[in-house]
Amino acid sequence: MAIATINPFTGLTEQEFEAHDDAEVERRIASAQAGFVALKSTTFSERAEWMRAAADLLEADVDELGRIITIEMGRPIKAARAEVLKCAKGLRYYADHAEEFLAPELLDDPSKVGASQAGTRYAPIGIVLAVMPWNYPLWQVLRFAGPALMAGNAGLLKHASNVPQAALYLDTLFSRAGFPEGAFHSLLIPASRVEAVLRDPRVKAATLTGSEPAGRSLASIAGSEVKHVVLELGGSDPFVVMSSADVAKAASVAVTARNQNNGQSCIAAKRFIVHTDVYDEFTRLFAEGVAALTVGDPLDESTDVGPVATESGRDELEGQVADAVAKGAHVLTGGFVPERDGWFYEPTVLAGVTPEMRLHLEEAFGPVATVYRVGSREEALDLANGTTFGLSSAVWTTDADEEEWFVDNLDAGAVFVNGMTASYPELPFGGVKDSGVGRELAAAGIREFCNLKTVWKG
Ligand code: NDP
Repeated sequence: MAIATINPFTGLTEQEFEAHDDAEVERRIASAQAGFVALKSTTFSERAEWMRAAADLLEADVDELGRIITIEMGRPIKAARAEVLKCAKGLRYYADHAEEFLAPELLDDPSKVGASQAGTRYAPIGIVLAVMPWNYPLWQVLRFAGPALMAGNAGLLKHASNVPQAALYLDTLFSRAGFPEGAFHSLLIPASRVEAVLRDPRVKAATLTGSEPAGRSLASIAGSEVKHVVLELGGSDPFVVMSSADVAKAASVAVTARNQNNGQSCIAAKRFIVHTDVYDEFTRLFAEGVAALTVGDPLDESTDVGPVATESGRDELEGQVADAVAKGAHVLTGGFVPERDGWFYEPTVLAGVTPEMRLHLEEAFGPVATVYRVGSREEALDLANGTTFGLSSAVWTTDADEEEWFVDNLDAGAVFVNGMTASYPELPFGGVKDSGVGRELAAAGIREFCNLKTVWKG
């Protein structure tokens, strides 16, 4: 894939970028190593000051950055600007809390291990390679970079090939904010050149957000090099609505939960599993809400849903829906490619999905929802857990016993009760099963790329 900005609203290539050659990649890895050595000897308060300056830069650049996001991947402009502001908040969160999360711990009674003092402290590990996707071009990167740099690590970013302008902005963000030169660099390289970077002995660990095949490939290379990885892969999150739920609220939140970011969010609710007592009401309200979304130019402030980011992504959705319809699924709304330029897919709700349809098991990465009717909580749980993914989940119920039962039994990295899944700097984020390994955000996220060093003093 060329490294280029191809506007999904028009389908036109706006700008192409030369990939970095091997010499430039080597220069950037060497610079990152020097950046790590410099960063390691800085204090938390110095790094916090630079991190807050990076947050200030994001806020000052919000309009320019929002526009870059929108023209490169089609996110509606209001949401694109909100993404930028969320990043600033995330960076400040780690500026405020990194020292507390990485504070040394001492045993109360070191004599039990024959020591005068014993405990643990967190040390940075070096350069961490981040392979990142286009769907939240700033947030996916900065939720890694904020904690990594606050811990004293250096970051190397291989961003998705369709968001090079975002990658180039991020390339200089941290040096502009005052961090030592080399603390963070972008590499403009295709996916085929990730392996060589990951095998470089100066690169100590990697994180990838993206598709399952990309994650498996990166993890197997990292495994052969005995390097730690964090993976945040796809999801096909269930959104369960039980009979005691506030159905109108659930249906209204469901519209956003499925169609946020033009349906291209790993934590978007994708499968709507609804108790038969409230199925007709929920399905009617949900389909009406989806049909009422404003689809259009993502630079227009009133647009709710823009185009899918790539032509291949749009074709994939079209194929998944065609397969389901051919096998008997009913279209409640949408279900077609609108006649206009750009890579649009009409927001869609499908009912009557059965296990032989692709959409039953595959992730739909765009504005396509499936609704299922169930007769009991056991049936709801079986369907919810009947996927290879396990990123997040949502359950709507006002029955306290049922609520706890779902929280205990949903096989996912998170359960949101009477609300939609979202990521917050304060809460760990990550999945189980094929959705990934490790956690981002909160204290768990910053500790992933640290050496938890045991210290024993006689
Ligand atoms: P990819 O996984 O292909 O891309 C994500 C990142 O990984 C990009 O930087 C990409 O580089 C890189 N990459 C791809 N293959 C490899 C590899 N073998 N080794 C190392 N790096 C690699 O996602 P796509 O954009 O193709 O999207 C396809 C599907 O991925 C979606 O339909 C969705 O299911 C899932 N996805 C999930 C996301 C999430 O948030 N969890 C985000 C995006 C996608 P390059 O761009 O150069 O190919």
